[in-house]
Formats: sequence, structure tokens, C-alpha cells
Amino acid sequence: GKTVGIIGGGQLGRMLAMAAARLGFRTIVLEPDAECPAAQVTNSQIVAPYNDAEALEQLTAASDVVTYEFENIPIQAARAVAGRVALFPPTEALEAAQDRLTEKIFLNSTGISTARFVSVDSDEALALALKDFGSSGVLKTRRMGYDGKGQRVFRNATSRETAGAHAELGGVPLLLESLMPFEREISVIAARGADGSMVAYDPAENEHRGGILRRTLVPARISARTARDAQDAAFQILRTLDYVGVIGVEFFVLEDGAIVANELAPRVHNSGHWTEAACACSQFEQHIRAIAGLPLGDTTRLADCEMHNLLGDEQDKAAQLLAEKDVVVHLYGKAESRPDRKMGHFTRLIRG
Ligand code: ATP
Ligand code: MG
Ligand code: MG
Repeated sequence: GKTVGIIGGGQLGRMLAMAAARLGFRTIVLEPDAECPAAQVTNSQIVAPYNDAEALEQLTAASDVVTYEFENIPIQAARAVAGRVALFPPTEALEAAQDRLTEKIFLNSTGISTARFVSVDSDEALALALKDFGSSGVLKTRRMGYDGKGQRVFRNATSRETAGAHAELGGVPLLLESLMPFEREISVIAARGADGSMVAYDPAENEHRGGILRRTLVPARISARTARDAQDAAFQILRTLDYVGVIGVEFFVLEDGAIVANELAPRVHNSGHWTEAACACSQFEQHIRAIAGLPLGDTTRLADCEMHNLLGDEQDKAAQLLAEKDVVVHLYGKAESRPDRKMGHFTRLIRG
């Protein structure tokens, strides 16, 4: 049998490993945390940092194809892997997504609009840029941010508020984005096969609190035109990157229905977890199919649904949820619960 190598052993790596197993593949996970969520489901794990040369050699030697569960793996590690065995999605996708500056430049270059942006590397540059943006904007670390970490929102900002902002966000390179007056947020989960075929799931509507995804509704409350525009944008990204695998693309939807891309994730995405409950082929299976050169799966949505993340102690609700009809519960097996940590999710099917 073939073996799928997975870099990263969090909940996404775990769910990828489960999907791979269902299709008859063995999995090997590279992840420094021996107690990671994927440890419970993978055939084997290499416990080492993602950029450990020996570990990467071991991973590629054992794998027929390698993928990753998150976009922040060191680019050198990706290159080392890609030099020895097929790595999907391609390194170009990682490069586009790792830095919010290159990401937005890439999106604009393919004709997809984003918020206005400018890189700022000091409080002085921030103050000037904010003035230009009409005193509001979202300041973000260019790299490594997730769940809204490493961000600060400015509304009618004064110079007193900008003082110290650069140091507060770690003194690293930052990007200031215009504050988008969005009506709602949506995402598209799409996939491209090695033969260039493409599929997309119905766009999902995402509600965030404190920068963290709380709830995903499908179908999104958007027009057919907006849905098509978002799927077309995702397809455009896939083609441009000569992509293989699943991608998640987040958009803001403006009052007039126009879409503005926020960010892309070259991997399976939290806002696609509902697909395991409402589609014959989940985003996880879809990704494994794509990278293994199998036919892509059906993306038809069989029911309306909403997915909720279980953060921190919310996982205690799982037993109660399991007793409910039309609810699909998924827990990640994390040893330790912390406030706002993603411990699991559930999808409620809404059957008219
Ligand atoms: P993720 O966990 O999705 O990777 P992240 O940390 O990369 O999140 P973003 O998606 O950039 O962060 O931002 C988190 C949320 O903050 C967005 O979903 C949106 O609600 C809000 N937000 C981000 N950028 C802007 C913006 N330019 N204008 C308005 N709201 C924004
Ligand atoms: Mg992100
Ligand atoms: Mg996001």
C-alpha cells in the first residue's frame, strides 16, 4: 500500500490521516509534539521539528506523497521534501500564503481584489499609513498569525494609540490593511486534481468572535452571483498556482454583493469541516484523493447545516450533543484544554 506523509499533527493532520486510512493508505506524520492529535490515528510519527534535516529525509523515504496541514512550515523544509518526493500543494502556494504581503500581491496579480494594504515597520510608518487610510485599519503581523492572533484594529486612531504598536506586535514586519465594512464573511473550499480538474463546495458563511471562527453556516446568505464570483476566484487561484489539493479562500462580502479576498489557506480549512457531515466526500477525503491522483469526489451538499467550533471547556457539551438527532460530533483528542483552544467541532444538519 501507499503511504501519505503529513507535516503537522494538529487536528487537521489528524483528520487528513483518518481520511487517508479510509482510502486504504498508511500515514506517517512529522510533528514535534508526541502527544499531538494525529498521534492517535496515524500509523507512525516522527517526533522532530519540521525543519530537522534527518527527520525530513526519514519522512520522504517513507512516503509516496507528502502534504501539510498548515501554511507555516519552514519553506526550506518544503523545498527539501519537494526535491525528493511529490509535495502537494506546491511550494509556490506555501510561498504565496506564508506572508500576508506576498499573499495580497499574489491575489491582486490574478485579478482578485483585496483590502488596501501597506507594509509598516515602525510606529511612525504606521501613523502615516493610518492617516492615509482615514484613521482606521487592521494591523497584522505578516507571518505566523492565526485565529486573529497578532492583530490590532484601529478605529479613528490617534497618535497616542499608535505609539508602541510595533513593539506590542513583536517588533516583526507588519501589514496595515484597510478596515473592510463587510456585510458578512464567506469562504470557498475548492480542490484541483493532478489532471487539472477542479471542484468547489458551496460557499460557507463564517462568524468570527475575537478573530476566531465560531460558526459556519451553509448555504451562505449570498446571491448566486456572489457565490459564483467566489468560486471563480478560488478556481483562478488554483489554476495560477498549478495547484494540487484542497484550498480554503476567505472573502469579505460587501453590501452590494462584491467580494474582497481576505486570505487563502493552502490546506483543508476549519470552515470546511461541515463537509464531513453534509457531503458524500469530505474536504479531507477530497484532499487525499487530489494528492494521491485519484478522481475528485462529489461536492454536492446533501443538507443545510451549521458547524460550531468547540473551544476550551465547550468540549464538555459533547456528551449532550451526541444525544441529539442530526448532530455530527468530532473531537480532536487534545490532552489539555485551554481557553479558546480548538478542542473539537460539531455540525448540525438542518433538514427542511
Ligand atoms: P485564520 O484563523 O482564519 O487564519 P487569521 O489570524 O489569519 O485567521 P484573518 O483571517 O486575517 O486572521 O482575520 C481574522 C478576522 O478578523 C477575519 O475573519 C475578520 O473577521 C477580521 N478581519 C481581518 N482583516 C480585516 C479587515 N481588513 N477588515 C475588517 N475585518 C478584518
Ligand atoms: Mg489565516
Ligand atoms: Mg482568516
